[in-house]
Amino acid sequence: MSQIPKKFDWVIVGGGLAGKLAAYFLCRLRPTWSVALIEKNHGWSIHHTWSCFETDVPSTLKGKWEDLNPYFWSKHKVYFPQFERTLDIGYYSLREQDLNQVITNTPNLTTFLGYQALTSSQSQKSLNVLFTKSEEPLMLQLQSSDGQGAPLTIESLKLVLATGWPPISGPVGYQKFVGWEVRTTDEHGLEFPVLMDARVPQTDGYRFFYVLPFTKNTLLIEDTYYSDSSHLSEDLIAPNIYKYASQNGWKIADVLYRETGVLPIPLFKSSFNVSYNFDFRIVSLGTCAGHFHPVTGYSLPVFLKQWALFEQKLQDGGISVRKKMLPCFSRADWGYRMLNRFMWYGATSQNRRVFFAFFYQKKAQGLICRFYSHNMSLRDWLSFYASWPPPISLTFALRAMLKSVALWMVRCWRSVLA
Ligand SMILES: Cc1cc2nc3c(=O)[nH]c(=O)nc-3n(C[C@H](O)[C@H](O)[C@H](O)COP(=O)(O)OP(=O)(O)OC[C@H]3O[C@@H](n4cnc5c(N)ncnc54)[C@H](O)[C@@H]3O)c2cc1C
Repeated sequence: MSQIPKKFDWVIVGGGLAGKLAAYFLCRLRPTWSVALIEKNHGWSIHHTWSCFETDVPSTLKGKWEDLNPYFWSKHKVYFPQFERTLDIGYYSLREQDLNQVITNTPNLTTFLGYQALTSSQSQKSLNVLFTKSEEPLMLQLQSSDGQGAPLTIESLKLVLATGWPPISGPVGYQKFVGWEVRTTDEHGLEFPVLMDARVPQTDGYRFFYVLPFTKNTLLIEDTYYSDSSHLSEDLIAPNIYKYASQNGWKIADVLYRETGVLPIPLFKSSFNVSYNFDFRIVSLGTCAGHFHPVTGYSLPVFLKQWALFEQKLQDGGISVRKKMLPCFSRADWGYRMLNRFMWYGATSQNRRVFFAFFYQKKAQGLICRFYSHNMSLRDWLSFYASWPPPISLTFALRAMLKSVALWMVRCWRSVLA
């Protein structure tokens, strides 16, 4: 069926974190632009709370970011069996429902819910964007996700691809969690977020609780694992959340909201098959472009950093920006991936905790910020690894190295055979 094309200055494919934030920032950058956001699901997801450190938000985006009304705490804490530490680093949390509200109320944004931008038949990687000359608009085909609605063709001058996690193509570990936002019967008394409470039994990898105190009697409590497996059972984890709450003297009155996540953590550069675009008209952003933190799997800090560069490119024509916009598991990420291999290949799953314990006990706040902001310089890495791995795990390092070399040899052998 032929359709009258709808025309936009920008079309964003994928209404997850990256797509919604890109839509918000674009509409704020130039309110005269017409922007379309395409999401294949029929409704906006509501099951994410996205957090990052204050230092992850680039100064050029700070005002716009704060207009989204994220929760903010000026400090946060970590607990390990031998020590606790309060870090004077602010922490933000943005709930997906709040971002959805902003998206819904943005006047120059048109949303297509329940529409999927088609992938080409030859390669599932690239979207079927049909265009003839570089100055001509991009034509994008949309198909209704349930097959009920008529297909649409829309026209755009520029395209943002934000389609979510790329396919896994090599060894990965997992950060997985079950989080409940609960209402406590009494005031819980927690003032600041606890980003890691690792004083819990180390089952299924490095395990810790993550707690955000939203109001005086609501908390997000997450049981988190740096695990070898992607298997996650909310039913099995539920009693742990009750137990942790009661150990802290909190009585759960209601569960208000639930979220679960299984985030793949790259152990090698080849762990993901990323298709990455960055040119004048098409840009990939968010997890699909490898824009996530290689150790935590968190994508908000990296997205914000990349978006700040992208805005700069839009404003000044992109002089020297391109070089800085790289997929995260580029060569520059060797330090993070090496740490992942220490944790997954070197340590036993019960011992994985020593790495974070050592990190929080020995490292200065500045380095911790840069580590999470994905801003480590070579000097940072040298100082990071000068005392790494912690003495207890020299055997871990050796084991990690041997396993990595063995896997590399297997890969080489396979490619020779192929
Ligand atoms: C519960 C949870 C909590 C998290 N918390 C944090 C956090 O606190 N901080 C942090 O930094 N990270 C966090 N993460 C990790 C990461 O930030 C999220 O996974 C984030 O949602 C990734 O954003 P994205 O836009 O790249 O991908 P997604 O959120 O997966 O969005 C991709 C979207 O594109 C749509 N799509 C795909 N293909 C098409 C197509 N062809 N046409 C139309 N639509 C399409 C999908 O339906 C999807 O909605 C969390 C992850 C989870 C699961």
